[in-house]
Amino acid sequence: MPSSAAAQPANLDLLRIDDQLTPDERLVRDTVRSYVADRVMPHIADWFEAGTLPRELVPELGKLGLLGMHLTGYGCAGMGAVAYGVTCREMEAADSGLRSLVSVQGSLSMYPIWRYGSDAQKEEWLPRMAAGDAIGCFGLTEPDHGSDPGGMKTYAKPNDKGWVLSGTKMWITNGSIADVAVVWAGTPDGIRGFLVPRGARGFSTRTIHKKMSLRASVTAELHFDEVMLPADAVLPGVTGLKGPLSCLSEARFGIVWGVTGAARACLEAAVEYARTREQFGKPIGGFQLTQSKLAWMLADLTRAQLLALHLGRLKEAGKVAPEQVSLAKMANVRTAIDIARQARTILGANGITLEYPVIRHENNLESVLTYEGTEEIHALAVGQALTGLSAYR
Ligand SMILES: Cc1cc2nc3c(=O)[nH]c(=O)nc-3n(C[C@H](O)[C@H](O)[C@H](O)COP(=O)(O)OP(=O)(O)OC[C@H]3O[C@@H](n4cnc5c(N)ncnc54)[C@H](O)[C@@H]3O)c2cc1C
Repeated sequence: MPSSAAAQPANLDLLRIDDQLTPDERLVRDTVRSYVADRVMPHIADWFEAGTLPRELVPELGKLGLLGMHLTGYGCAGMGAVAYGVTCREMEAADSGLRSLVSVQGSLSMYPIWRYGSDAQKEEWLPRMAAGDAIGCFGLTEPDHGSDPGGMKTYAKPNDKGWVLSGTKMWITNGSIADVAVVWAGTPDGIRGFLVPRGARGFSTRTIHKKMSLRASVTAELHFDEVMLPADAVLPGVTGLKGPLSCLSEARFGIVWGVTGAARACLEAAVEYARTREQFGKPIGGFQLTQSKLAWMLADLTRAQLLALHLGRLKEAGKVAPEQVSLAKMANVRTAIDIARQARTILGANGITLEYPVIRHENNLESVLTYEGTEEIHALAVGQALTGLSAYR
């Protein structure tokens, strides 16, 4: 391979998909890319190893207008779905933990307040959350109820002063650093959402340690021991599982885009490595088996990117249905994890160290495969759309 060719970064957008972005969307892309290159990439391997993500990033993301960026009013940027998707992609090209923070803040915490909250709740929380001065979390999963949240045990009992909330939520992103928890609980009328501020008496959190995935992200257990909440702590606009499911549909859309960033970063690392690592007297990228791997990785990545863009434009046209999001989440996460695993093989032993981004992405994607609906649950949603038959039970 001539050295001038090796010096050029590989073009991973062979089909010029980003040409389809509007100038505003390209500006968002470039802004997030340069922020991430400057503030995140130099440190992310260390943060992952240490199991932290510095809180000071949150107001920085707020200043850039990236928190709740697809919402309108209350200090939110009011951008389109594709701009939000591109942001998720560029964040997750750095780390799924960073994208998770932005998804949980915008789609899982701000969105339910924005969509189902009272004016007072919106005024109280959204401007601070958009600015990154307050962090939110979304408590749906419980120790015994993951894929089947409808069976939740957390319960809010009404009384003459308001509500008494009891129960436990598990695996909650941002749980122990959040200023407000959006908690879904059973009530006599069905499942409802509650805003529980940090410091409420009887509300405690415990950070979950020893994770091998999404280490640059805080994950916690939330415990509610007869927490007294005022009557206006409930989100007035929704009752039933459709409340949390609508939030998850928003966040899953971000995952569809985000994982293409993680996959792109893995492919970039694999191409770069293949061009420079020599075995048997030549770069391993010069072997046909390696080129075949790289070519298929690019083909798969390209398909995933097209799927994300198509879903984004559908969403902007107001035409997205949950089973479409399920199809895209299921397909793109699987594609991304396969690309990460293939990239890992090209890096050989170096593929298992944090000196390169690949194993970090690969491990992170194991969480992304499971959270916000496992691959199997999304397959059931698509299966039901195809057959008209529910196979959940
Ligand atoms: C890092 C991380 C962050 C998370 N953040 C949040 C958060 O912020 N908020 C929140 O509420 N939750 C969060 N979660 C929880 C996540 O959404 C759940 O882990 C997920 O819904 C799956 O639930 P579970 O782990 O209890 O698995 P289970 O539901 O016990 O499933 C175990 C296995 O059984 C399969 N299975 C279950 N039911 C069926 C069926 N009917 N047919 C076929 N297979 C089935 C599943 O697909 C899976 O393979 C997070 C999880 C992780 C790992």
